[in-house]
Amino acid sequence: MINGEKNIQKPIRWAMVGGGRGSQIGYIHRSAALRDHNFQLAAGAFDINPERGKGFGIHLHVEPDRCYPDYKKLFEEEAKREDGIQAVSIATPNGTHYEICKAALHADLHVVCEKPLCFTTEEAKELETLGKKKNRVVGVTYGYAGHQAIEQARQMIANGDLGDIRIVNMQFAHGFHSEAVEAENASTKWRVDPKIVGPSYVLGDLGTHPLYLSEVMLPDMKIEKLMCTRQSFVKSRAPLEDNAYTIMEYDNGAVGTVWSSAVNAGSMHGQKIRVIGSKASIEWWDEQPNQLRYEIQGKPVQILERGMDYLYPEALADDRISGGHPEGLFEAWSNLYTRFAIAMDAADHGGESNHFWYPGIEAGVKGVRWVENCVRSADNGAVWVDYQ
Ligand code: NAD
Repeated sequence: MINGEKNIQKPIRWAMVGGGRGSQIGYIHRSAALRDHNFQLAAGAFDINPERGKGFGIHLHVEPDRCYPDYKKLFEEEAKREDGIQAVSIATPNGTHYEICKAALHADLHVVCEKPLCFTTEEAKELETLGKKKNRVVGVTYGYAGHQAIEQARQMIANGDLGDIRIVNMQFAHGFHSEAVEAENASTKWRVDPKIVGPSYVLGDLGTHPLYLSEVMLPDMKIEKLMCTRQSFVKSRAPLEDNAYTIMEYDNGAVGTVWSSAVNAGSMHGQKIRVIGSKASIEWWDEQPNQLRYEIQGKPVQILERGMDYLYPEALADDRISGGHPEGLFEAWSNLYTRFAIAMDAADHGGESNHFWYPGIEAGVKGVRWVENCVRSADNGAVWVDYQ
């Protein structure tokens, strides 16, 4: 159970690039990092607009002289201070992640980077090599993975509760962009601009989330082949897709699908994963994250509730309040930020951090690789491609 006691000797001096006032994802980074006293917000380059960024930083209790106009100044000036930052979170639009992450690693900082890590597997591998060389942690915020039910699913599968795994059905299909809302909304506008978002929209923005959940639940299964078809139902978004279907074949004979969509009209979030085994299935839906459906063939459905003592101990280890009281995305992210902090501290002090998983650089590489393979398949006429 997590109860706010310290996990590391001293909070990590931490900064943010991006995540400024009005951004979608900045606040959950700060809430998650600061929740368990693992990090201390010491500096930042919070906004593409330096004035706005400084004003915002001051409102976050950051010293005015540590609110910098851009990430280069942030890394340069902080390196000169004895109490300079040790870690940085990057919460900017996709096209900037690669260069900021690379610069942060060169500045010997630990990194938490938004997904997608970058646009090509080559770039992702370069960041992975650099991170390892520098002995720096790179966490990637596949935040849903921090829900207790995901750990429960991982343990159930590892313990054979489902039997042999045959089918994995995934989707992240919301309806918020069923029309061209980008005309009025800055946060959506860059998401459909290939210069800023890279080779895909919903595959990278949405599909990689349930895909990572499947990697947590099924760490030993490898994709061997896939086929993808993608569409731009709002025509102005072409060549970027606002809907895509991917079918995959795994090395153990299992098959999987991912439906990625921003035009599933009426759907709030629609992120689900259903893992089907030879004996039973489990299903998780991010709109009801405290519950995990467990369906044994021939028996009534069981709804496993978060925080109950029938769960595996590995799942209960992430509990913050007993069952019945809802936990949500903020707690899931906090669980991951706690793991990032322990891993960062271990890297700095030679401790152990390999007894738990977290979405690290290899998760970032896998996400980029999956999108690349999907786009290659789709753009060659929705053909099966060997996974590269
Ligand atoms: P946003 O457009 O709402 O906000 C972006 C913020 O970054 C703004 O404050 C902007 O001023 C700032 N910014 C832009 N360029 C900058 C730069 N060069 N230096 C400093 N600040 C800069 O975007 P968002 O929706 O918050 O998305 C940001 C990132 O988070 C994206 O990569 C997105 O894919 C990712 N994201 C992840 C999740 C998740 O669940 N992990 C959810 C939403 C968004």
